[in-house]
Amino acid sequence: MKCEHVDCGNIEKVWLPYIIRERPIVLKSHPYCIHCGMVKNIGSDRAVGSGYFINALSQLEKHLKLPGSSVRMRLVAKDLENIEDFEDNYSMTKFAQEKIFINIIKKYYKLPDGIIQKFL
Ligand SMILES: [Zn+2]
Repeated sequence: MKCEHVDCGNIEKVWLPYIIRERPIVLKSHPYCIHCGMVKNIGSDRAVGSGYFINALSQLEKHLKLPGSSVRMRLVAKDLENIEDFEDNYSMTKFAQEKIFINIIKKYYKLPDGIIQKFL
């Protein structure tokens, strides 16, 4: 079952390593979910809503100008919905979301990764 994460707030955070590029690891307080205990991703690489990817897809379709775009867009939207935790900003990063999105797109479009990335 999917957890509706609830922040522990400022009272009680956990101190965990936080990696900053080319800098030593520092300890930073991370909020966690009071229900499942999942520690929240507080880096700059944060998950975004699936609307961001649907928007990227519509830009891609505008670029391709191929017939049947509404069918493909529905299929991609459905695939995104089926991925558990896709919009989970505790466990998901935008980088991970982009990888998932590119793999889904490649199911329906014969495009190299580089072209898809241009629309992200
Ligand atoms: Zn939770």
